[in-house]
Amino acid sequence: MSKICTLSETGELLKQANTIVIVSHVSPDGDTLGSSLALMHALRSLGKEVVMNVDDDIPAVYSFLPGIQEYRRFAAGEAVEADLLVVIDASSADRAGNALEVVNASAVMNIDHHKTNTHFADYLYLDADAAATAEIIYSLLLTMAVPLNIDMATCIYEGLYTDTGSFKYSNTTSNTLATAAALLKLGVNPSTISDNMEVKSRHQVEMLSEALKTLTFLHDGRVAFVEIAPELYDHNIDTDTFVSYPRYIEGVEIALLFKQVEENLTRVSFRSKAVDVAKIALSFGGGGHQKAAGCSICAPLKEAEKTVLKALEELFV
Ligand code: AMP
Ligand code: MN
Ligand code: MN
Repeated sequence: MSKICTLSETGELLKQANTIVIVSHVSPDGDTLGSSLALMHALRSLGKEVVMNVDDDIPAVYSFLPGIQEYRRFAAGEAVEADLLVVIDASSADRAGNALEVVNASAVMNIDHHKTNTHFADYLYLDADAAATAEIIYSLLLTMAVPLNIDMATCIYEGLYTDTGSFKYSNTTSNTLATAAALLKLGVNPSTISDNMEVKSRHQVEMLSEALKTLTFLHDGRVAFVEIAPELYDHNIDTDTFVSYPRYIEGVEIALLFKQVEENLTRVSFRSKAVDVAKIALSFGGGGHQKAAGCSICAPLKEAEKTVLKALEELFV
Protein backbone atom coordinates (compact mmCIF):
# COMPACT_ATOMS: atom_id res chain seq x y z
CA MET A 1 0.00 0.00 0.00
CA SER A 2 1.16 3.52 -0.74
CA LYS A 3 1.57 6.42 1.64
CA ILE A 4 -0.98 8.94 0.42
CA CYS A 5 0.67 12.35 0.03
CA THR A 6 -0.65 15.88 -0.08
CA LEU A 7 0.53 18.13 -2.88
CA SER A 8 3.01 19.91 -0.58
CA GLU A 9 4.41 16.58 0.69
CA THR A 10 4.81 15.50 -2.94
CA GLY A 11 6.66 18.75 -3.68
CA GLU A 12 8.89 18.29 -0.61
CA LEU A 13 9.85 14.73 -1.64
CA LEU A 14 10.77 16.00 -5.11
CA LYS A 15 12.82 18.84 -3.64
CA GLN A 16 14.71 16.47 -1.33
CA ALA A 17 15.80 14.21 -4.22
CA ASN A 18 18.78 15.05 -6.40
CA THR A 19 18.67 12.36 -9.08
CA ILE A 20 15.20 11.63 -10.36
CA VAL A 21 13.94 9.23 -13.04
CA ILE A 22 10.59 10.23 -14.53
CA VAL A 23 8.64 7.39 -16.13
CA SER A 24 5.77 7.80 -18.58
CA HIS A 25 3.36 4.91 -19.10
CA VAL A 26 3.57 2.44 -21.97
CA SER A 27 1.34 3.22 -24.99
CA PRO A 28 2.23 6.84 -24.19
CA ASP A 29 -0.35 9.56 -24.71
CA GLY A 30 -0.25 13.36 -24.54
CA ASP A 31 -1.02 13.42 -20.82
CA THR A 32 1.71 11.09 -19.62
CA LEU A 33 4.27 12.71 -21.98
CA GLY A 34 3.21 16.31 -21.37
CA SER A 35 2.98 15.87 -17.58
CA SER A 36 6.34 14.11 -17.40
CA LEU A 37 8.10 16.69 -19.59
CA ALA A 38 6.65 19.62 -17.66
CA LEU A 39 7.93 18.05 -14.45
CA MET A 40 11.33 17.45 -16.07
CA HIS A 41 11.65 21.12 -17.14
CA ALA A 42 10.62 22.23 -13.64
CA LEU A 43 13.00 19.91 -11.77
CA ARG A 44 15.91 20.80 -14.05
CA SER A 45 15.18 24.48 -13.39
CA LEU A 46 15.74 23.61 -9.71
CA GLY A 47 19.11 22.04 -10.57
CA LYS A 48 18.02 18.39 -10.35
CA GLU A 49 19.50 15.62 -12.46
CA VAL A 50 16.55 14.13 -14.35
CA VAL A 51 16.40 11.06 -16.60
CA MET A 52 13.31 10.52 -18.77
CA ASN A 53 12.05 7.04 -19.54
CA VAL A 54 9.28 5.32 -21.46
CA ASP A 55 9.36 1.62 -22.25
CA ASP A 56 7.71 2.03 -25.64
CA ASP A 57 7.87 3.90 -28.92
CA ILE A 58 6.62 7.49 -28.87
CA PRO A 59 4.09 8.30 -31.63
CA ALA A 60 5.48 10.89 -34.07
CA VAL A 61 2.55 13.24 -33.38
CA TYR A 62 4.22 14.21 -30.07
CA SER A 63 7.57 15.19 -31.61
CA PHE A 64 6.73 18.91 -31.24
CA LEU A 65 6.72 18.70 -27.42
CA PRO A 66 9.71 20.57 -25.96
CA GLY A 67 12.16 18.06 -24.49
CA ILE A 68 10.66 14.94 -26.14
CA GLN A 69 14.14 13.95 -27.42
CA GLU A 70 15.19 13.43 -23.79
CA TYR A 71 13.29 10.14 -23.51
CA ARG A 72 15.34 6.96 -23.16
CA ARG A 73 14.17 3.38 -23.35
CA PHE A 74 16.03 1.24 -20.77
CA ALA A 75 17.57 -1.97 -22.00
CA ALA A 76 16.57 -5.09 -20.06
CA GLY A 77 19.27 -5.84 -17.50
CA GLU A 78 20.46 -2.22 -17.39
CA ALA A 79 20.97 -0.76 -13.88
CA VAL A 80 20.17 2.88 -13.13
CA GLU A 81 20.62 4.49 -9.71
CA ALA A 82 18.31 7.28 -8.50
CA ASP A 83 17.06 8.93 -5.35
CA LEU A 84 13.51 8.92 -6.63
CA LEU A 85 11.56 7.17 -9.38
CA VAL A 86 8.42 9.07 -10.36
CA VAL A 87 5.75 7.23 -12.38
CA ILE A 88 3.38 9.61 -14.13
CA ASP A 89 -0.27 9.01 -15.16
CA ALA A 90 -0.05 5.24 -14.60
CA SER A 91 -2.52 3.38 -12.40
CA SER A 92 -0.61 0.11 -12.08
CA ALA A 93 2.98 -1.13 -12.00
CA ASP A 94 2.78 -2.89 -15.38
CA ARG A 95 2.09 0.47 -17.05
CA ALA A 96 5.59 1.60 -16.02
CA GLY A 97 7.19 -0.99 -18.32
CA ASN A 98 10.62 -2.19 -17.17
CA ALA A 99 11.52 0.94 -15.12
CA LEU A 100 10.65 -0.63 -11.76
CA GLU A 101 13.16 -3.44 -12.45
CA VAL A 102 15.87 -1.32 -14.07
CA VAL A 103 15.94 1.61 -11.65
CA ASN A 104 17.34 1.13 -8.19
CA ALA A 105 15.64 4.06 -6.45
CA SER A 106 15.40 4.86 -2.75
CA ALA A 107 11.66 5.39 -3.27
CA VAL A 108 8.96 5.16 -5.93
CA MET A 109 6.42 7.96 -6.29
CA ASN A 110 3.25 7.84 -8.39
CA ILE A 111 1.34 10.92 -9.55
CA ASP A 112 -1.97 9.92 -11.13
CA HIS A 113 -5.65 10.66 -11.73
CA HIS A 114 -7.11 7.17 -12.41
CA LYS A 115 -9.71 6.01 -9.90
CA THR A 116 -8.54 2.43 -10.62
CA ASN A 117 -5.10 3.20 -9.13
CA THR A 118 -3.61 0.08 -7.49
CA HIS A 119 -1.40 1.92 -4.94
CA PHE A 120 1.75 0.21 -6.24
CA ALA A 121 4.21 3.01 -5.32
CA ASP A 122 5.72 3.96 -1.95
CA TYR A 123 4.23 7.46 -2.24
CA LEU A 124 1.03 8.29 -4.10
CA TYR A 125 -0.53 11.59 -5.07
CA LEU A 126 -3.91 10.71 -6.56
CA ASP A 127 -6.65 13.09 -7.63
CA ALA A 128 -9.36 11.20 -9.50
CA ASP A 129 -11.26 14.47 -10.05
CA ALA A 130 -8.42 15.96 -12.08
CA ALA A 131 -9.19 15.84 -15.81
CA ALA A 132 -5.56 15.01 -16.54
CA THR A 133 -2.37 14.34 -14.59
CA ALA A 134 -1.20 17.57 -16.23
CA GLU A 135 -3.79 19.46 -14.17
CA ILE A 136 -2.14 18.02 -11.03
CA ILE A 137 1.33 18.92 -12.32
CA TYR A 138 0.24 22.54 -12.78
CA SER A 139 -0.95 22.75 -9.14
CA LEU A 140 2.17 20.91 -7.98
CA LEU A 141 4.51 23.39 -9.66
CA LEU A 142 2.56 26.29 -8.13
CA THR A 143 2.82 24.61 -4.70
CA MET A 144 6.57 24.15 -5.23
CA ALA A 145 6.82 27.84 -6.28
CA VAL A 146 8.54 26.93 -9.55
CA PRO A 147 8.31 29.82 -12.05
CA LEU A 148 6.57 28.37 -15.12
CA ASN A 149 8.10 28.95 -18.56
CA ILE A 150 6.62 28.42 -22.01
CA ASP A 151 8.06 24.88 -22.30
CA MET A 152 6.40 23.76 -19.06
CA ALA A 153 3.17 25.54 -20.06
CA THR A 154 3.10 23.89 -23.51
CA CYS A 155 3.62 20.43 -22.03
CA ILE A 156 0.92 20.91 -19.39
CA TYR A 157 -1.53 22.24 -22.00
CA GLU A 158 -0.82 19.16 -24.12
CA GLY A 159 -1.85 16.89 -21.24
CA LEU A 160 -5.08 18.80 -20.67
CA TYR A 161 -5.83 18.87 -24.41
CA THR A 162 -5.35 15.12 -24.81
CA ASP A 163 -7.29 13.85 -21.80
CA THR A 164 -10.25 16.19 -22.24
CA GLY A 165 -10.53 15.50 -26.00
CA SER A 166 -9.62 19.15 -26.58
CA PHE A 167 -11.70 20.43 -23.68
CA LYS A 168 -14.96 18.67 -24.56
CA TYR A 169 -15.26 15.52 -22.40
CA SER A 170 -17.25 15.40 -19.18
CA ASN A 171 -14.02 15.43 -17.13
CA THR A 172 -13.47 19.09 -18.18
CA THR A 173 -14.08 21.29 -15.13
CA SER A 174 -13.86 25.00 -14.40
CA ASN A 175 -10.45 24.25 -12.85
CA THR A 176 -9.30 22.60 -16.10
CA LEU A 177 -10.30 25.68 -18.08
CA ALA A 178 -8.83 28.06 -15.48
CA THR A 179 -5.56 26.12 -15.76
CA ALA A 180 -5.69 26.33 -19.55
CA ALA A 181 -6.36 30.08 -19.32
CA ALA A 182 -3.30 30.53 -17.08
CA LEU A 183 -1.21 28.58 -19.62
CA LEU A 184 -2.40 30.86 -22.43
CA LYS A 185 -1.24 33.83 -20.37
CA LEU A 186 2.19 32.19 -20.29
CA GLY A 187 2.24 32.21 -24.09
CA VAL A 188 0.66 28.91 -25.17
CA ASN A 189 -1.07 29.25 -28.53
CA PRO A 190 -4.04 26.81 -28.74
CA SER A 191 -4.01 26.67 -32.53
CA THR A 192 -0.32 25.69 -32.60
CA ILE A 193 -1.09 22.75 -30.32
CA SER A 194 -4.20 21.67 -32.24
CA ASP A 195 -2.42 22.05 -35.62
CA ASN A 196 0.28 19.70 -34.34
CA MET A 197 -2.18 17.28 -32.77
CA GLU A 198 -4.84 17.08 -35.47
CA VAL A 199 -2.54 16.58 -38.46
CA LYS A 200 -2.75 13.02 -39.80
CA SER A 201 -0.37 11.09 -41.99
CA ARG A 202 -1.77 9.59 -45.17
CA HIS A 203 -1.09 6.13 -43.76
CA GLN A 204 -3.10 6.94 -40.66
CA VAL A 205 -6.15 7.95 -42.69
CA GLU A 206 -5.74 4.88 -44.90
CA MET A 207 -5.63 2.67 -41.78
CA LEU A 208 -8.70 4.45 -40.40
CA SER A 209 -10.60 3.76 -43.61
CA GLU A 210 -9.74 0.05 -43.29
CA ALA A 211 -10.68 0.01 -39.60
CA LEU A 212 -14.05 1.65 -40.31
CA LYS A 213 -14.92 -1.19 -42.71
CA THR A 214 -15.00 -3.47 -39.66
CA LEU A 215 -17.59 -1.33 -37.83
CA THR A 216 -19.96 -3.73 -36.07
CA PHE A 217 -23.08 -3.06 -34.00
CA LEU A 218 -24.41 -5.25 -31.19
CA HIS A 219 -27.30 -5.09 -28.71
CA ASP A 220 -29.62 -3.04 -30.94
CA GLY A 221 -26.87 -0.57 -31.77
CA ARG A 222 -26.07 0.21 -28.14
CA VAL A 223 -22.58 -1.30 -28.55
CA ALA A 224 -20.32 -0.61 -31.53
CA PHE A 225 -16.74 -1.60 -32.22
CA VAL A 226 -14.00 -1.38 -34.80
CA GLU A 227 -10.93 -3.57 -35.05
CA ILE A 228 -7.41 -3.45 -36.42
CA ALA A 229 -6.23 -6.82 -37.62
CA PRO A 230 -2.56 -7.76 -37.08
CA GLU A 231 -1.73 -7.56 -40.78
CA LEU A 232 -2.94 -3.95 -40.77
CA TYR A 233 -1.46 -2.83 -37.43
CA ASP A 234 1.63 -0.64 -37.58
CA HIS A 235 3.02 0.59 -34.26
CA ASN A 236 4.29 3.77 -35.94
CA ILE A 237 0.75 4.86 -36.72
CA ASP A 238 -1.25 6.55 -33.98
CA THR A 239 -4.68 4.91 -33.65
CA ASP A 240 -5.73 6.57 -30.38
CA THR A 241 -8.56 8.55 -31.96
CA PHE A 242 -10.12 5.67 -33.90
CA VAL A 243 -12.48 4.74 -31.05
CA SER A 244 -14.15 8.15 -31.32
CA TYR A 245 -15.83 7.04 -34.59
CA PRO A 246 -18.06 4.33 -33.06
CA ARG A 247 -18.31 6.45 -29.91
CA TYR A 248 -20.20 9.31 -31.51
CA ILE A 249 -22.70 7.25 -33.48
CA GLU A 250 -26.30 7.93 -32.45
CA GLY A 251 -27.62 5.38 -29.96
CA VAL A 252 -24.19 3.92 -29.12
CA GLU A 253 -23.67 3.62 -25.37
CA ILE A 254 -20.40 1.66 -25.36
CA ALA A 255 -17.78 1.90 -28.10
CA LEU A 256 -14.70 -0.28 -28.38
CA LEU A 257 -11.52 -0.48 -30.41
CA PHE A 258 -9.70 -3.81 -30.61
CA LYS A 259 -6.20 -3.88 -32.03
CA GLN A 260 -3.90 -6.86 -32.13
CA VAL A 261 -0.44 -5.43 -31.46
CA GLU A 262 1.51 -8.69 -31.08
CA GLU A 263 0.97 -12.35 -31.92
CA ASN A 264 -0.80 -12.94 -28.64
CA LEU A 265 -1.68 -9.46 -27.41
CA THR A 266 -4.75 -7.37 -28.14
CA ARG A 267 -5.25 -3.84 -26.79
CA VAL A 268 -8.80 -2.79 -26.05
CA SER A 269 -10.08 0.78 -25.68
CA PHE A 270 -13.48 1.39 -24.10
CA ARG A 271 -15.56 4.56 -24.32
CA SER A 272 -19.01 4.98 -22.80
CA LYS A 273 -21.78 7.50 -22.26
CA ALA A 274 -22.64 6.32 -18.74
CA VAL A 275 -21.65 2.69 -18.01
CA ASP A 276 -18.54 2.41 -15.80
CA VAL A 277 -16.14 0.90 -18.34
CA ALA A 278 -13.18 1.29 -15.93
CA LYS A 279 -14.74 -1.57 -13.93
CA ILE A 280 -14.86 -3.78 -17.01
CA ALA A 281 -11.29 -2.86 -18.02
CA LEU A 282 -10.13 -3.51 -14.45
CA SER A 283 -11.66 -7.00 -14.54
CA PHE A 284 -9.25 -7.71 -17.40
CA GLY A 285 -6.24 -6.25 -15.56
CA GLY A 286 -6.54 -2.81 -17.15
CA GLY A 287 -8.04 0.40 -15.81
CA GLY A 288 -8.94 3.98 -16.57
CA HIS A 289 -11.89 6.25 -15.96
CA GLN A 290 -15.66 5.70 -15.87
CA LYS A 291 -16.14 6.80 -19.50
CA ALA A 292 -12.71 6.00 -20.99
CA ALA A 293 -10.74 2.91 -20.10
CA GLY A 294 -8.46 0.30 -21.57
CA CYS A 295 -6.87 -3.09 -21.07
CA SER A 296 -4.56 -5.54 -22.79
CA ILE A 297 -5.65 -9.13 -23.34
CA CYS A 298 -3.13 -11.93 -23.91
CA ALA A 299 -4.95 -13.41 -26.91
CA PRO A 300 -5.26 -12.86 -30.64
CA LEU A 301 -7.86 -10.38 -31.92
CA LYS A 302 -10.93 -12.59 -32.40
CA GLU A 303 -10.44 -14.45 -29.12
CA ALA A 304 -9.99 -11.16 -27.20
CA GLU A 305 -13.11 -9.75 -28.84
CA LYS A 306 -15.13 -12.80 -27.84
CA THR A 307 -13.97 -12.58 -24.22
CA VAL A 308 -14.65 -8.84 -23.84
CA LEU A 309 -17.97 -8.86 -25.70
CA LYS A 310 -19.14 -11.76 -23.51
CA ALA A 311 -18.40 -9.67 -20.42
CA LEU A 312 -20.55 -6.86 -21.85
CA GLU A 313 -23.51 -9.17 -22.46
CA GLU A 314 -24.73 -9.12 -18.87
CA LEU A 315 -25.21 -5.34 -19.13
CA PHE A 316 -27.83 -5.86 -21.82
CA VAL A 317 -30.03 -8.64 -20.42
P1 AMP B 1 -7.06 4.50 -24.23
O1 AMP B 1 -8.26 3.77 -24.67
O2 AMP B 1 -5.78 3.74 -24.48
O3 AMP B 1 -7.02 5.92 -24.71
O4 AMP B 1 -7.15 4.59 -22.64
C1 AMP B 1 -8.25 5.16 -21.98
C2 AMP B 1 -7.94 5.30 -20.52
O5 AMP B 1 -7.72 4.02 -19.95
C3 AMP B 1 -6.68 6.10 -20.23
O6 AMP B 1 -6.90 6.85 -19.07
C4 AMP B 1 -5.63 5.05 -19.99
O7 AMP B 1 -4.65 5.52 -19.10
C5 AMP B 1 -6.43 3.89 -19.39
N1 AMP B 1 -5.85 2.62 -19.82
C6 AMP B 1 -5.71 2.20 -21.08
N2 AMP B 1 -5.14 0.97 -21.14
C7 AMP B 1 -4.89 0.63 -19.86
C8 AMP B 1 -4.28 -0.52 -19.23
N3 AMP B 1 -3.83 -1.56 -19.92
N4 AMP B 1 -4.19 -0.50 -17.88
C9 AMP B 1 -4.64 0.55 -17.16
N5 AMP B 1 -5.23 1.64 -17.69
C10 AMP B 1 -5.35 1.69 -19.01
MN1 MN C 1 -2.50 8.41 -20.02
MN1 MN D 1 -4.19 10.92 -18.00
